[in-house]
Amino acid sequence: MPATTITFVAPGEYSRALARLPKTPRDDVVVLLIESVQKGSALPWHRRKLVLVLSALRHFAAELIERGYRVDHRIAPSYRDGIVASAREHGSTRVVSTQGREWDIAEELAEARGQLAELGCELELHPDRGFFSTREDFAAWATGRKELRMEWFYRDRRRASGVLMEPDGKPTGGEWNYDAENRKPWPKGKPVPAPISFPPDAITQATMDQVAGWQGRWGRVEGFDLPVTRRQAKELLRHFVAERLDEFGPYEDAMVAGEHELLHSGLSSALNVGLLTPQEVVQAAEAAYRAGHASLASTEGFIRQILGWREFVYGYYWWAMPGLRTVNALEAKRSLPVWYWAPDGEQYGGTTAPQCEMNCLSDSVRQVRDQGRVHHIPRLMVQSNFATLLGVEPAALSIWFWAAFTDAYEWVELPNVMGMATWADGGAMASKPYVSSGAYIDRMSNHCAGCRYDVKKRTGPDACPFNYLYWDFIGRNADRFAEHPRMGMMVRQFGKLAADEREKIAQSAADFKARVP
Ligand code: FAD
Ligand code: SF4
Repeated sequence: MPATTITFVAPGEYSRALARLPKTPRDDVVVLLIESVQKGSALPWHRRKLVLVLSALRHFAAELIERGYRVDHRIAPSYRDGIVASAREHGSTRVVSTQGREWDIAEELAEARGQLAELGCELELHPDRGFFSTREDFAAWATGRKELRMEWFYRDRRRASGVLMEPDGKPTGGEWNYDAENRKPWPKGKPVPAPISFPPDAITQATMDQVAGWQGRWGRVEGFDLPVTRRQAKELLRHFVAERLDEFGPYEDAMVAGEHELLHSGLSSALNVGLLTPQEVVQAAEAAYRAGHASLASTEGFIRQILGWREFVYGYYWWAMPGLRTVNALEAKRSLPVWYWAPDGEQYGGTTAPQCEMNCLSDSVRQVRDQGRVHHIPRLMVQSNFATLLGVEPAALSIWFWAAFTDAYEWVELPNVMGMATWADGGAMASKPYVSSGAYIDRMSNHCAGCRYDVKKRTGPDACPFNYLYWDFIGRNADRFAEHPRMGMMVRQFGKLAADEREKIAQSAADFKARVP
């Protein structure tokens, strides 16, 4: 029977909570799910990410078939080709889709629109259900502002959504932000809670077997344990709220060697692939606080990540694209060190990479290689910090973050890399570059104790590279940041160093840079 309507389930919508489906199966509607060959080979994706996306898609297709929907699940050269071929084969007059969360998918949809029109088929686009606010909401908020700062957008979204707000219009507890109570290192000997894991079923195992054999990708599939269905994702959310939320805030910035998650939720992969809505995650956290099961500081801190940061970067991505891909305010030109792909002296690009001797970097990259993820602080204060201090081209770092993480999509990694971490957008999104010396890493982690480098030394072959690279960075960018309200003090401090100390810093940085593979 011809289907008048094709409902395209776009990437990031792989559950009934996100996809735009009729409530019950209809004969005249076909639900279209596409595995795009072009997308699957566009970057050296982490194999676990490929397993996650494909397994979530395949589980959703199977669920819809079981519920009686007409499903067209196909492998196609691209999303565009798959949509047009499906409409042609089903003789459809209408394709329904969401706008396309990322630039490339939106472009494919725009191209599909023209080809569909030739078939007498119209393309109907709807807002993305994966966020509280639309990109138009963000644009309306951002228009006319000199600076785009997450904190102001977050407060606006708190007011608009009523989340953690009181009837008198004031924030719950009287403050918008409780970070002063957070940011503690992980206490020595405190047990790290075991992460909840979801062993592969037959669909996931078959996907793992398939992806394991794909060349030109990164990481291994063995040990894959992420949620791939909505039921599993809801279980992960329940577990986080019951077991971790209460202490989330205090240890949000802590890092422990060998631990990729600590008390973080691990929800990003499930949220971004479309197994959970941000609304239900935020509601679950607020309900736990209101029932007395979680502290306000932790609950607010967690909700700010989603209602604040996640919404903000999505809006900012669409506000700043396509130029955001190439911004480079600090004119950084280096290629990404091989250590980001091969931290343990593995074979990479036809040669054997030297072992990365910086404990913090090798540990955090190892987590990404083995798990496809590591929490926010290693991403920001180790991996991005090191690349920024070294002078790595932001676009090269962005490609790594996009390819290597199970939760990565351009709409979220690009603003985090270009706006937050490297300041490549010149401060449009964050007030200063997130750079620091080794002292921050020493305070917030246990990496330095066993490191071959000495975190207390500023120069010389045994000094922590973060130390001389930090001061070298400040020195190189002194003119740029001399009048900067938050960086100016460091520039003045650098200026007060004796000339021979400044020389030693520059020499140590140059020697190290010459050795970085
Ligand atoms: P939690 O700490 O438990 O936080 C809860 C949720 O808040 C996360 O699941 C996520 O959805 C959201 N969130 C928190 N911080 C951010 C943020 N800065 N931007 C957007 N959402 C946020 N996050 C991604 O989801 N995908 C990425 O590709 C990604 N790339 C990043 C690259 C860099 C350089 C940096 C510094 C951060 C990046 N982040 C990215 C943000 C953040 O690190 C991850 O969302 C977080 O570590 C995911 O782990 P979690 O679910 O345990 O987070
Ligand atoms: Fe990292 Fe420096 Fe500490 Fe080594 S000493 S773990 S390089 S911060």
